[in-house]
Amino acid sequence: MPKRAVVDRRKCAYCGACVAVCNLNANELIETYLEINENCNGCGICVKTCPMGALSLAEV
Ligand code: SF4
Ligand code: SF4
Repeated sequence: MPKRAVVDRRKCAYCGACVAVCNLNANELIETYLEINENCNGCGICVKTCPMGALSLAEV
């Protein structure tokens, strides 16, 4: 099954670290929350980068 990053918005501190590491521009900071778009290929780099443990991979 393909996977995609998902964010727990209760944990996200809106720091932008995941946006900086994604090569596919799949993480976007929108006003006050993070959105992950369909460009995500589930590589997991942002999941390891997030200092808040707010990201995980889920089957889509
Ligand atoms: S899992 Fe990979 S492709 Fe998806 S948002 Fe994170 S860094 Fe980008
Ligand atoms: S790295 Fe984590 S805390 Fe920072 S914006 Fe991304 S999901 Fe939120």
